[in-house]
Amino acid sequence: MKDYTKIIEALGKEKVKENEPMKLHTNMKVGGPADLFIEVKTNEELKKAVLGAIKEKIPYTIIGNGANVLVSDQGIAGLVILNESSQIRFISDEIVEADSGVDLSALIKLTREKDLAGMEREVKVPGTVGGAVYMNAGDTGKKEFFGDLVESVEIIDKEGNAKTLSNEECEFAYRSSRFQKSGEVIVKAKLKLQKTDPKFIEEKTRNILERKINHPAGATVGSTFKNPDYDGAGRLIEACGLKNKKIGGAKISEKHANFIINEGNAKAVDVKALIDLMKKSVKEKFGIDLQEEVRYIGRW
Ligand SMILES: Cc1cc2nc3c(=O)[nH]c(=O)nc-3n(C[C@H](O)[C@H](O)[C@H](O)COP(=O)(O)OP(=O)(O)OC[C@H]3O[C@@H](n4cnc5c(N)ncnc54)[C@H](O)[C@@H]3O)c2cc1C
Repeated sequence: MKDYTKIIEALGKEKVKENEPMKLHTNMKVGGPADLFIEVKTNEELKKAVLGAIKEKIPYTIIGNGANVLVSDQGIAGLVILNESSQIRFISDEIVEADSGVDLSALIKLTREKDLAGMEREVKVPGTVGGAVYMNAGDTGKKEFFGDLVESVEIIDKEGNAKTLSNEECEFAYRSSRFQKSGEVIVKAKLKLQKTDPKFIEEKTRNILERKINHPAGATVGSTFKNPDYDGAGRLIEACGLKNKKIGGAKISEKHANFIINEGNAKAVDVKALIDLMKKSVKEKFGIDLQEEVRYIGRW
């Protein structure tokens, strides 16, 4: 293993944990140890950790709520930065700037109190602003995504330079953004919301909650796959007879076949084996290549 003495000293011995089990920090509750692990509470701490890792040539991975990641049982090399930066600033009547570690539920609550519409699309989407930018998370049913709200994003590039990107530069598409290729760190995002009648927000929120009422709860990443054009991944997997299929401690939900649930003692390899089975079965029966929405992290 690499010598991490310098980065541990730079970030503070009391703050950096070694061999931290990632299953404690992911919604799927699987994943082996991160070599090094730090929780950051502010943008300054986030930047310090990223720049320190770049300087020492140590790989780094940012995690928000860990709601969309499948971490390998072999763990993650280098430094994992759990991002809990939490500042929210209202810049004008309809423009809000949020740190990337802000929890979506906090932003939903605060903007709703100000009668600002837009964030309803993230109702019941567990995650942070950084995760929502990276994944372009949102409401697939209504095709309303986080990227539609973004005015600009402040980032740190792989060389450690701070930059501001416009909406177009973020290359938002269905569950996709430039960050999935670039490896840049999202520091904060400026969002444009819309002052509205509070009844409109209430109504939209109620509709989303009604639609999501049957979504399974528990240790999961939510939708495993993106929906292919003109069809639902869940419908295709269900038609292959895979609802309730179990491998090890992981199971395809009986409520929604695009959801895999960790029943308590699943390993990442169990989840991955189910994912491979779902892909193979759908390809054989329908000739469709399902694409993962879940992100693989660590030593796969
Ligand atoms: C029960 C359940 C329901 C869900 N429903 C939905 C839904 O309706 N719609 C939807 O879109 N998604 C849904 N998801 C998926 C998930 O909530 C979203 O993808 C969310 O955006 C993940 O945010 P996060 O902070 O947890 O990101 P994480 O899972 O921590 O990270 C996801 C990816 O983003 C990267 N990342 C995170 N923060 C940063 C940053 N600051 N800079 C650079 N990279 C970063 C990570 O490295 C990782 O590759 C659901 C998940 C669950 C568990």
